[in-house]
Parts: sequence; structure tokens; C-alpha cells
Amino acid sequence: MAEKDVIIGLEVHVQLNKLNSKLFCGCSTDYHDSPPNTHTCPVCLGLPGTLPVVNKRAVEYAIRVALALNCDIQGETLFYRKNYYYPDLPKAFQITQYDFPLGLGGHILIKGEDGEEKTIRITRVHMEEDPGRLVHAGTIDRAKYSMVDYNRCGMPLLEVVTEPDLRSPKEARSFLDKLRNILEYLDVFDGNLEGAMRIDSNISLVGGERAEVKNISSHKGVEKALAYEITRQRSARRRGVAQVQETRHYDELRSITVSIRTKEEAHDYRYFPEPDLVPMRIADWVPRVEAELPELPDAKRERFVAEYGIADDHAKSLTSEIRVANFYEDVAKRAPPRLAAVWIADVLKGELNYRDVTIDKFSPDHMVEILGMLEKRTITEKGAVEVIRIILDTGGDPSEVVEAGGLAKAEDDAVKEAVFAAVAECSQAVADYRSGNEKAINFIVGMVMKKTRGRADPGEANRLVKEALEEI
Ligand code: ADP
Ligand code: MG
Ligand code: ZN
Repeated sequence: MAEKDVIIGLEVHVQLNKLNSKLFCGCSTDYHDSPPNTHTCPVCLGLPGTLPVVNKRAVEYAIRVALALNCDIQGETLFYRKNYYYPDLPKAFQITQYDFPLGLGGHILIKGEDGEEKTIRITRVHMEEDPGRLVHAGTIDRAKYSMVDYNRCGMPLLEVVTEPDLRSPKEARSFLDKLRNILEYLDVFDGNLEGAMRIDSNISLVGGERAEVKNISSHKGVEKALAYEITRQRSARRRGVAQVQETRHYDELRSITVSIRTKEEAHDYRYFPEPDLVPMRIADWVPRVEAELPELPDAKRERFVAEYGIADDHAKSLTSEIRVANFYEDVAKRAPPRLAAVWIADVLKGELNYRDVTIDKFSPDHMVEILGMLEKRTITEKGAVEVIRIILDTGGDPSEVVEAGGLAKAEDDAVKEAVFAAVAECSQAVADYRSGNEKAINFIVGMVMKKTRGRADPGEANRLVKEALEEI
């Protein structure tokens, strides 16, 4: 349920992890499987005398994202220093943007609580560098010591800030899913890498102050933390305890949030323009980046409906991941598009989810082959599901699997034979059917399925049994 008294706004940190090098130095961004402190240099370690150089590609990617989120791109944009001390930040300041962010005033569409499409406004999109990472020996509150890994230091990051337009934890989740979807379409982001997206969630009840739950990296975690906050804030209000503006930490293991500081302890970051970087005039780049934008999820979904004549729900499901969309289009060019939509959106995606694997585990060629068998009616629907499962679990190709598993549909003559035998054997059911109990036919059809060892099409068997009963 969308709840009228709940207000949520998100600040999302997105790593542009498909770039080759970091934001201000030449270090590789490909550190995720490397030992600590192997992807560093004097610049990202903040050694004295070093100077940052902006990664032009990163700026282009940022423009790409801001455009896709329907922001106005600022013609001139500027980096600032945000000053604070923390062990993961060797310079003791973070280079970020402040009052001239790259993008302002955007929006995206999400599926709202009532199932209707809902517009969520984007306040701003700005660029910044990622700090390093602390690795605690144990949990953050109990660790005897912590280690620091600077591999992440200087990774190109975008911060996407929403207006407080979200009304429930589920809508927040829906926003994050859509954002991830768009970023993957833009080919600037791989959401599977650790820490690729980190979210600060602001939440308040109408008339109350807000709590900011910091730094959660899973969408499900955000949803759970927000649900916890609603309960906590409501119960505090009932007890007459006012919510103060504060920062909270989400304890994933215990599924609760705990306060870490209140507004009175807020930092003064002493923002000032980064003197080692000049302002960037990016107005001239925008038309080119805009012309190169790929087709985005909403547009693709509309095109799928128009071009392939498939249901909107199927189109939505098929475009919710770029890899699935590409898979579908590949198959739809070589098989009946509507049949393909049903089998990919309703069956294949379910089987993939169940096994927690991605669509790369299944070949479009195999899907085309299976759809061909269904069309020619050489396998039943049940048989086709079985073929998909076997391929996912043990491999092989469709014709082999059908052969080895005896999954081919029974020949028409064999089905007819089974029908007559079943009608002859089930005299009681036949009598019941004749005296007006239509459901009795299911018993006879069941017998046909049994006799063909499940290789008959149930619909067809039903039709044939009816025919046979009329003839006798
Ligand atoms: P700060 O800079 O202190 O984090 P901002 O004004 O930039 O504050 O807001 C940050 C986030 O807080 C935004 O995502 C915004 O939508 C959200 N926000 C603002 N007011 C509220 C509120 N009353 N309840 C929940 N979220 C809010
Ligand atoms: Mg904030
Ligand atoms: Zn470096």
C-alpha cells in the first residue's frame, strides 16, 4: 500500500565501472578481483605534488546518464573540494560537485504502488570520486582493527538525488530497479560488481523530521531498512517521541537501523572550487552524446508492442533487463514473436530466476528450435518446459534432449488409440458425462495422458475424447 504519511527521497551513488580508468588518474578500474592496494598511484593516493586530470570519457558517460534521466545538462560545470578527514580518504578532501552539478531537474517513470506509472523527479546528477574502502576485522562496531584498501579510491562515481516523491519502500525498490535498468542499457554500469550502487535513503513521516539511512548496497536491503524505519518512526510518534534529523546505519544481520549521529553534529565541509581543475564547458558535447544515446527501456517496450504485437506486460518483462531484451529480439526474428514472448517472459525467465542464473546460460538458437517444435506440434507444452529445464540443469541441445528423454509428442494415431481405449475402459465416467456431469470428462482425459505417458497435448486429448463420446 502507498502510504499517505510516508515521504522518501534517495541519494544513489553509482560507479561508472565500465570505464577503463579512474576519474583523475590512469589507474585501472578493474580492481574487483585484485588484492588490496594494487590499483593505486600517487594521484589516487593523494601524495603531495600530484595533480588530477579529468577522464574525458567519464564526463561523457555522466552526460549520457543525465540525459537518459531527462535532466537539463549545465553548459558549464565545476568540481569542488569537500573537506573532511576519514582513513579511506587520503587527501582529506573528496573532489565532487556542488552548486554547478552536471545535470539538474530530471525525472524517470516507475511502476507505482497502485500499478500505475508514476513520475519520480530527479533533483540533480553530479560527478565525484569514490573514496577507498575500510575492511573491518569483524563487524563495524566490534572490530579490533580495520584495514584500508585504496583500490576504489578515485573510481568515477555519479550521485543521483531524487526529490522526496517516493511513498513506500516498494516504490523505492521500484525506482532503484528502473535506475539500474537504465544504467545497464546505457552500457556505463555493471550492477553485479560489488559496491556498484550504494544508496542513502531519507525517510520521514508527514510533519516530522527525517532520518537518513546511509550506504546500503542492495535494493532489497533498502526496501527492508525503509520498512523498519516506518514502523520505528510511527511507534516513536505514538509514544510522543519526536523524530530528530539524524543519520542511521542499517544493520543487515539484525535487519534494524541504529542512529549514528544527529544534525547537531553535522559536518561543515568547507566546500570551495577545486583549484587544480578548470571549469568544464560541456555544452558543445551534449548534441553528440545525445545523438549516440541507445534506445532506452520505455522506448524499447513501446516498440516491442508495436513491432511484434505482444502484450504490454510481456514487453515490460522482456525489457526489464537489456540482456533479456536482446535475447528476445534475436529469437523473435526467427520464430513467431508472440509465442516467443510467452515462452521467454513467462517460462524461461521463471526457470532462470528459480536457478538464480542469467539468460546467458540459455542459447537463443535453442529457444528458436523449441518454439519450432511447439509450432509443428512435435512436442507438447509440458514437454517444452521439461526440455528447457533439462538444458538448464544438464546441458545438451533440444533435439537430443527430446530424443533422450522420450519427450516427443505421441503420434496422432497413438493418441486416438489411447482415446478409444480410455473411453472403453472408463464406462462409469462415460455414463456420468452422459447424465450431465461435464467434469467426468477430466477422468477420461487423465487416462489418455496416462496411456501416452504424458506425451499427448491435454487440450487436444480433451477435444478427441469429446468427439469420441459424441460418435458412440
Ligand atoms: P542533505 O544535503 O542534507 O542530504 P537534501 O536537501 O539535499 O539534504 O536532501 C537529500 C535527500 O533528502 C533528497 O533525496 C530529498 O528528496 C530527501 N528529502 C528531503 N526532504 C525530505 C523529507 N521530508 N522526507 C524524506 N526525504 C526528504
Ligand atoms: Mg544527504
Ligand atoms: Zn591512481
